[in-house]
Amino acid sequence: HETPDFDPKLKLNEEKVDVMKIYKDKRGDSKEQLHLVVVGHVDAGKSTLLGRLLCELGQVPSRLIHKYQQESKKIGKQSFAYAWVLDETGEERERGITMDVGHSKFETETKSITLLDAPGHKDFIPNMITGATQADVALLVVDATRGEFETGFDSGGQTREHALLLRSLGISQLAVIVNKLDTVDWSKERFDEIVNKMSVFLKQAGFKDNVSFVPCSGLSGENILTKPKEPLSNWYNYYSQYTGPTLVSVIENFKCPERHINKPFRFSINDIFKGTGSGFCVSGHVETGMVSLGDKVLVLPRNETAVVKGLQIDEISTTNAFAGDHVSLTLSAIDQQNVGIGDIICNLQNPVPVTTRFQAHVVVFAVKIPIMKGLPVIIHQHSLVQPAVITKLVAQLHRNTGEMIKKKPRCLPKNSSAIIEITTQNPVCMELYKDIKELGRIMLRVEGTTIAAGLITKIK
Ligand code: GDP
Repeated sequence: HETPDFDPKLKLNEEKVDVMKIYKDKRGDSKEQLHLVVVGHVDAGKSTLLGRLLCELGQVPSRLIHKYQQESKKIGKQSFAYAWVLDETGEERERGITMDVGHSKFETETKSITLLDAPGHKDFIPNMITGATQADVALLVVDATRGEFETGFDSGGQTREHALLLRSLGISQLAVIVNKLDTVDWSKERFDEIVNKMSVFLKQAGFKDNVSFVPCSGLSGENILTKPKEPLSNWYNYYSQYTGPTLVSVIENFKCPERHINKPFRFSINDIFKGTGSGFCVSGHVETGMVSLGDKVLVLPRNETAVVKGLQIDEISTTNAFAGDHVSLTLSAIDQQNVGIGDIICNLQNPVPVTTRFQAHVVVFAVKIPIMKGLPVIIHQHSLVQPAVITKLVAQLHRNTGEMIKKKPRCLPKNSSAIIEITTQNPVCMELYKDIKELGRIMLRVEGTTIAAGLITKIK
């Protein structure tokens, strides 16, 4: 007995659609999806490592790697070849490697991984932030070179800030990649030193004991896909304390979070562009729920309706998209001017809350000047960037226990935790972290520096 193909029109007429059944029929056999962000101090070797990873997994045609190797050799910078794999701006970029603006995909045996905001981008830090708000799991890359780890880790370096950022955005699965271990002759002592320092810090930052540490070298390719050789294998594989996972096996072992296909449809717009036919396209992420071809949808905060005329995943047309998918939608019956990056598309029955005032539970980073009421900030929430003001300091909380230390504090010092009220310049779409965590994470920036990050707890 064959199940008939799903007719998208049914969804318009019927209140209740068995989304889980549709999902099972369409996707029952596909690999689990995971969104991965890679962070770390500048020059820690992120691009090289990821380029190498994609090559080892066979995602990059060998003639292309060969070409990059030849060209990098010509300019005397042979080590750049792998980083070029991720370089989206390179003229030589070929279709099919980097899939879309700001993200690429790769597959392991059991998982389909979306790499958020490939660090080949020039403007990496702001992108990293958008990436972090969408990530399920993270790799934190540190440079094992003597002096370099210290630069990244000590005050002013990005290692701590990035780790704090991940934690305050609710990302609890993390692996630390102890990279460039070739520069210290694969020293076990150096690896241990970094593991010890990072463990103490990560624990303080609120990460549990489940953080893995992986020694490797993006440049030599050691311990990425295949088990390490000597000298790393002398202590990494056999030494009882080390279980010896490779980078790929650590990624394989991350747990995929549950996709909320049963929740109301939410789609965050990352990009808007002209399509081929009539109408225009928006690309973005299905945060929760599902969408089908032909659906009538609502675009907020501007409260405009539209019809989904086309639906593409990885440039292939399809009839449905589900939570966790990155898709392009062709919209019709709407003026392109009424749609902006950072807007949310949802279904008519269950619109996303729109507000200018909300409360968030935030962690303050290593700010030079304590945060005061009235401070103008830029908020980043998924792909939304919006000017705002901190209008109230509601309470300062204990960093680890979350207990209240002080009501209405006068200011918030560095590394403190607090509940604050934020008022945005224009109405924005907001969700409570507890309802839809994908849309409930925010970051606050001032003049290009992240000053705090956290979770939305109340919408006014
Ligand atoms: P990113 O800024 O974190 O993306 O770092 P890149 O990947 O651009 O690398 C920064 C520099 O470190 C480049 O000169 C690379 O060639 C070099 N590098 C990257 N990975 C390694 C490694 O594993 N070992 C050594 N020795 N050098 C590396």
